[in-house]
Amino acid sequence: MIDKSGRNIEYLRVSLTDRCNLRCLYCMPEKGIEKRSHFDILRFEEVEKIIRACAKLGINKVRFTGGEPLILKGIDELIKNTASIPGIEDISITTNGILLADMAEGLKNAGLKRVNISIDSLKPQKYDKITRLGDIGKVFKAVEKCLSLNMVPVKLNTVLMRGINDDEIEDFIDLTVDNPIQVRFIELMPIGEGVKYFDRCSMKVEEVLERYPELIPVEDDSKVASVYKVAGAKGSVGLISPISCKFCSLCNRIRLTATGTIKPCLHSAEEINLKPYLKDEEKLIEVIEDTVYNKPEEHHLERDGKSDTVRMMYQIGG
Ligand code: SAM
Ligand code: SF4
Repeated sequence: MIDKSGRNIEYLRVSLTDRCNLRCLYCMPEKGIEKRSHFDILRFEEVEKIIRACAKLGINKVRFTGGEPLILKGIDELIKNTASIPGIEDISITTNGILLADMAEGLKNAGLKRVNISIDSLKPQKYDKITRLGDIGKVFKAVEKCLSLNMVPVKLNTVLMRGINDDEIEDFIDLTVDNPIQVRFIELMPIGEGVKYFDRCSMKVEEVLERYPELIPVEDDSKVASVYKVAGAKGSVGLISPISCKFCSLCNRIRLTATGTIKPCLHSAEEINLKPYLKDEEKLIEVIEDTVYNKPEEHHLERDGKSDTVRMMYQIGG
């Protein structure tokens, strides 16, 4: 699908739930969120219907996210069914990894190709503080399991926060030396709970290069990350800078929220509700095609200092 700015939109990110088993400070309020009725949330059959329609329009890559996607029963079945949709070539998930160690093999057998595991500290106490409910041992086990299953590169998502985890940059980079791991440093975005930390803690990912000039740039087909490596390392380091160096002109993605709306741009308030069209595939395809064609050309996060979206990150999935 080519949008009006000439970009080829081939990647769908699906947030399956807004619930989560963690409460990361920059993402979810400590007390959690109000539980939505099951009727508000798309059922897996409905998600599959939308993915099928998107695949007919040229989407070939799907990522499941949340909230936390792995708290949902039947996600392996959803992955299996998605893998059987003609045109879908790549299925991945973004997860906090807490439940992943025991589920990884089943998910791989269902058709999951790759995982991104979010981990903002390697130190147990700090990890507890950031996630409020997490057990870092479970995340380490998940990383090891995915490496042993050869689901590589295992990508680790780390939101860089000055004064919170910027003292661990080197420790994260060290992980990439002997393991096929890509550590991805991500700039904190002023969205949801992130607004509270933005002024004090945000930092440009470029600082990673200033502090570690030995990182060598490498070719990579990522649309969002600039990729580097320590000489001779098995893994790599990705820098993702939605704020300091936005990648709107390369953006190839659209997002589906758990309540059934399509978001053509992460930081725009614009959303189209697909629920009324679920019974009519032709109309569904038409609405998605129109939404994609009119995808906003760019966001203005760097200018406005805040996102225009009314959604929280746990509703969009990153
Ligand atoms: N629960 C899963 C996880 O944590 O990987 C998937 C959903 S989570 C919303 C997806 C990603 O969004 C995580 O890597 C998280 O760190 C990131 N994220 C959440 N709020 C953010 C913010 N304000 N700025 C930057 N990244 C954020
Ligand atoms: Fe949950 Fe992911 Fe948000 Fe953390 S970042 S609270 S794990 S949805």
